[in-house]
Amino acid sequence: MGISANQHLATADPIIANALASEKQRQQDQIELIASENIVSKMVLEALGHEINNKTLEGYPGNRFHGGGQYVDIVESAAIDRAKELFGAKYANVQPHSGTQANQAVFFTLLKPGDKVLSLDLAAGGHLSHGAKPNLSGRWFDSHHYMVDRDTGLMDYDAIADQAQQIRPKLLIAGGSAYPREIDFAKMAKIARSVEALFLVDMAHVAGLVAADAYPSPLPHADLVTCTTTKTLRGPRGGLILSSTDEFSKKLQSAIFPGVQGSLHSNVLAAKAVCLGEALQPSFKTYGQQVVANGRILAKTLVKKGIKIVSGGTDSHMVLLDLSPLGLKGKDAEVALASANITCNKNPIPFDTPKPSDWVGLRLGVAAATTRGLDQATISVLGNTIAELILAKSENRLDQVCDQHNAIVKQICDDHPI
Ligand SMILES: *Cc1c(COP(=O)(O)O)cnc(C)c1O
Repeated sequence: MGISANQHLATADPIIANALASEKQRQQDQIELIASENIVSKMVLEALGHEINNKTLEGYPGNRFHGGGQYVDIVESAAIDRAKELFGAKYANVQPHSGTQANQAVFFTLLKPGDKVLSLDLAAGGHLSHGAKPNLSGRWFDSHHYMVDRDTGLMDYDAIADQAQQIRPKLLIAGGSAYPREIDFAKMAKIARSVEALFLVDMAHVAGLVAADAYPSPLPHADLVTCTTTKTLRGPRGGLILSSTDEFSKKLQSAIFPGVQGSLHSNVLAAKAVCLGEALQPSFKTYGQQVVANGRILAKTLVKKGIKIVSGGTDSHMVLLDLSPLGLKGKDAEVALASANITCNKNPIPFDTPKPSDWVGLRLGVAAATTRGLDQATISVLGNTIAELILAKSENRLDQVCDQHNAIVKQICDDHPI
């Protein structure tokens, strides 16, 4: 009683309405360079905000525990078909509530508590859900990590092969949140086979680039592939599990439900279907190629200005800066860029200290900026601004340059409305 279904937030709940309005304005007024973010279409938002949200269902299309699921069945079946078509997969599960839960379901399917897992080290760009100590995956499984090469910042496949021989993991994982270069999935699959390990690729960051043929696909090489539908795939918050075989289908279905999740998120399923449909359009290929071109030009611009980049460049949307030669921490550079309305995040670089406030890395990603329509020319202007802000910060003269760069960023934002 008392709440009319037709009331609007603006009048009924001004605290939340104002926060939402301010958040929207923030997104318009800032250049978003957090590598895991993107700007989804109005159609994805339409699906997320739809009354289909009200529907509770457990199980899978045609086999539900509740009635009234006929329209969600259409939505989920479309999402599955589109995911299979987009990635050339034989199996797709579109229900994971997040990338982390997609990985949990894979662990649940392939491993028993205590089994050995070998994955990319956290400081080298690995993900918490790949066996990091504070995560459930690190508590319940015997996790080991491979590093990248200290000099090149690149994955060292011979070293990984040696380590795999020593450890004999049950599961080998490739992929992470801060590894900007291509991964040789065929080589990693061979290493997995040589020790009779299963091979998982978590392509959360690059899924949209894979969809656009702008980054190599892991599907032909991995036993299982997980990803988020956020990040470069430009969809709602959520995860996917994919495979080029049907070998684990039955176990994966029950690993998601009832293994690690309960009812599905019907509105998110609808938004996933919409985003996958968008990614099947030819224009998404153009987008993915533009993202990588923009990533490359950002790296090149920064290097030209004397900023050190881990691995010397990028093959994706992501560039990882090493600020140690400038005597700066990631948090300092984050503040410097924020002073000109550029949003990004501090990050560890390979072999960095575990303490976030001492990390010397800064991670930048161009997926969201590319969605706004920034091309190489604008990205190089932005790259120069980023370099100059960081150099000014390291020389204690940020206040002398920040107005000028604020104006540059404002112009870019005005020219490229969300
Ligand atoms: C972002 C990310 C995830 C987790 O996604 P959430 O939806 O935030 O749980 C998993 N793996 C990798 C490699 C990621 O980058």
